Amino acid sequence: MKYVIVIEDGASDYPIEEIDGKTPLKVAEKPALDRIAREGRTGLIQNVPESLPPGSDVANMSIFGYDPLLYYTGRGPLEAASMGVETKDGDVVFRCNTITERDGLMASSNAGHISSEEAAELMEYLNEYFNDKYPGFKGKFYPGVSYRHLFVYNDKENAEKLAKLDMVPPHDFVGETIADKIEFDSFADEVKSIMLESKEALENHPVNLKRIEEGKEPSNMVWFWGQGTMPAMPSMKEVYGLKGAVITGVDLIKGLGVCSGCTNLDVPGATAFFDTDYNAKGEYAIDALKDNDIVFVHIEAPDEAGHAKNLEEKVRGIENIDKHILAPLLEALPEYGDFKIAVLPDHPTPIDVGTHTRDMVPIAIYSTVDEPDDVQVYDEDSVKEGSLGELTGCNLLKLLLE
Ligand SMILES: [Zn+2]
Repeated sequence: MKYVIVIEDGASDYPIEEIDGKTPLKVAEKPALDRIAREGRTGLIQNVPESLPPGSDVANMSIFGYDPLLYYTGRGPLEAASMGVETKDGDVVFRCNTITERDGLMASSNAGHISSEEAAELMEYLNEYFNDKYPGFKGKFYPGVSYRHLFVYNDKENAEKLAKLDMVPPHDFVGETIADKIEFDSFADEVKSIMLESKEALENHPVNLKRIEEGKEPSNMVWFWGQGTMPAMPSMKEVYGLKGAVITGVDLIKGLGVCSGCTNLDVPGATAFFDTDYNAKGEYAIDALKDNDIVFVHIEAPDEAGHAKNLEEKVRGIENIDKHILAPLLEALPEYGDFKIAVLPDHPTPIDVGTHTRDMVPIAIYSTVDEPDDVQVYDEDSVKEGSLGELTGCNLLKLLLE
């Protein structure tokens, strides 16, 4: 038996006035997905536990078959996994933004979209600066892309407490005061002082002096958030007996691939945006089934369209997935014998809201061995009549394996 899970990130929506109260899923031309619903089973699925934020990391962890309440520790650790950062016992991994501080305010949460090259120089300099000043310094900066970096801090004694510290994402308070966002308990004093002291280290760095001269935002401070200890996830092979592969353009999902012991497949042209190469993703998915029992295909475009409140792009994203990924899969899968294919969003990203919500999402599963239900098309409402009823995200793989 082969398994395919296609994740249309953020695809489900609320009724939109502009299209007579319909949703993008209702107006999009998607014959392959409708066929999966018509010849398969349908229902609703909740990928986000009530106590956690409706992030793609949490929701996709559910879809990968891991209960986020047991395994989710933060986005920093997942990004570290995708970047191949080695960690050890007592490490806490923070997301580290290069930011612009001005007059005590968060002036820019991304330092004017600083280039990766400039930021790498600054991260390197911070490692030198803190190591020179504090011999035995327990932290290390890892440069990533543009303003997105990591800071790994080793503190065995306080790791669990630091992992739970309420650190505010910098994009959530642009233009607001910084000082009251870092009023932590004393166990976090050192982490706090590293953030504050980064200002001193970076302010007059040649990279920043040059940026100011060019009229750009300087990256004169770092901001830590999204931290956690590395999740102790058993491999998909151990839990489900499945050898898995993952296709995605998004680092967090790649991190889930690493943490679950799946293979991340590099697909040329796979971006995490509207312009992703849908065809290539479809072809790689089909090919990956030769060597794997299960393939996860994640497409970010509908979510990006939701964030951009771009209805046209959202509909187009759903149609592109249908034409270039689902249709070829349906055609190729019978060659592998018995198979099951599940299609679902991780969470809704409604056009009118412009960000993730925590509602249940529609799911359709076609299999060569199960009886279909009576649902004829795939959308937020019709699947409510489906035979799957209401599912919990992290039980999906168990259900597929039944
Ligand atoms: Zn998502």
